[in-house]
Amino acid sequence: MSADDVKIKPLYIGGKRIIAKEFYSLVSPYSQEEIAKVSLATIEDVDQAIGAATHSFEIMRQMPAHRRSQILANVAKILEQRAEECAKLIALEAAKPLKTARGEIARTIQTYQFAAEEAKRIHGETIPMDAAKGGEGRMAFTIREPLGPISAITPFNFPFNLVAHKLGPAFAAGNTVVLKPAEQTPLSALMIADIFEEAGLPAGALNVVTGKGRQIGQKLVTDKRIQMVTFTGSVEVGKTIKSQVGLKRCTLELGSNSAVIIDRNIDLETAVARCIEGAFAYAGQVCISLQRIYVHQEVYSAFVEKFIERATELILGDPMDPATDVSAMIRSADADRIQTWLEEAKRGGAEIVYGGTKEGNVVVPAIVLQAAADMKISCEEAFAPVVHINSVETVEEAIDAVNESDYGLQAGIFTQDLNTAFNAIQKLEVGGVIVGDIPTFRVDHMPYGGVKESGMGREGIRYAVEEMTEMKLAVFKL
Ligand code: NAD
Repeated sequence: MSADDVKIKPLYIGGKRIIAKEFYSLVSPYSQEEIAKVSLATIEDVDQAIGAATHSFEIMRQMPAHRRSQILANVAKILEQRAEECAKLIALEAAKPLKTARGEIARTIQTYQFAAEEAKRIHGETIPMDAAKGGEGRMAFTIREPLGPISAITPFNFPFNLVAHKLGPAFAAGNTVVLKPAEQTPLSALMIADIFEEAGLPAGALNVVTGKGRQIGQKLVTDKRIQMVTFTGSVEVGKTIKSQVGLKRCTLELGSNSAVIIDRNIDLETAVARCIEGAFAYAGQVCISLQRIYVHQEVYSAFVEKFIERATELILGDPMDPATDVSAMIRSADADRIQTWLEEAKRGGAEIVYGGTKEGNVVVPAIVLQAAADMKISCEEAFAPVVHINSVETVEEAIDAVNESDYGLQAGIFTQDLNTAFNAIQKLEVGGVIVGDIPTFRVDHMPYGGVKESGMGREGIRYAVEEMTEMKLAVFKL
């Protein structure tokens, strides 16, 4: 890419493309080349965007459900036509390997299709008022109403699909949105704004403010016109938002150090293949990335041997190459951080049996054996291609180890035993238990979210629509 190709990227406010006073340089995490100069939104820009979303809410709240549904279906259709272009954009700005990026776009299309369907079935219920003494002669029903302007703040790691998990349910329910994408992935957000415009969304219903979360985040969270904050990102920023949001609705989808339990008597080949995928896809930069593996001692050695063998087959390199499995981490600081975490583990007595070195920002997938629970690579969110494998004497011991965590997003268990599976479902302290697979499993209509420091509220279109609507009661005295 030559310097002439570097494009200036405007803000998107009230249906207009507005060039900001200042810019930041967006650089490819893999090649380090400048991709674009991106507008740095100011507090005044955010104020304007919230104003546009407030104004546009009067249109959106009156728009019939079939029209909202049609706009979302149009978005899915346009995305289908532009799928390859969108996948390449993710690969460019987020260094997500092209084949993984293609998978993200395929999921994004489904997410908007689900949103188009949900827009048509937002309804309340009738209440049997005469069940209470004094309720005779009254009839009641509930309706669900949109909230109003919503601030949506998103991370870098699924720049299309996690944005879809905000925009899809928000528009399905008749809300408006001010979207603040991650610093590293503004181009995907600006592209989806173009697509929504083409799909027929009224001006001002979607506004995109690019720039620094630290500078404009507080305004997005605290402005009185904003009725809800929906955030996906790190625990640290989630806590800041929670402390500022006051009585507004708030959904927080935060991090994790997800784990899987490997029982004996399972198909090791399948389990290993899935665990490799869960631990190293997108260089471990996935909120439900597999970070901790607890293996029954009877199959531990065989599991480790196969796991190392499969890890050596991964192809590292350019995200634009369709063969690449693992590419650059998002920031060089993160590639450096993980080196120090691995050194700490080594000093503490854990064994690094494969990987961990880096070339540029590409970290060779690292496999650590017998890490202690208080080592950073175990107890903190690595968000890097790092996994540790520990042997356990019983599944019970593994369940305790999984639960010994500040996080609780999803957990997986491979077992052939039904009682063991049900016991795990009961005891694991997470938002979702995946039996027969890794925790790194999600389809976009299932309820998704965490307990403990992994957050609060649920996404998955129908569940997000519930969070993004208010119940109103109507009582008739007959
Ligand atoms: P991040 O928390 O650094 O940034 C997320 C967003 O918050 C960005 O848009 C950023 O600009 C904004 N932000 C930063 N400071 C802010 C502030 N003070 N106020 C308001 N907004 C602010 O996260 P990231 O590095 O982009 O993403 C990685 C994290 O996201 C990981 O912890 C990962 O687990 C988490 N994540 C969670 C889920 C989930 O569904 N649970 C999904 C994907 C990623």
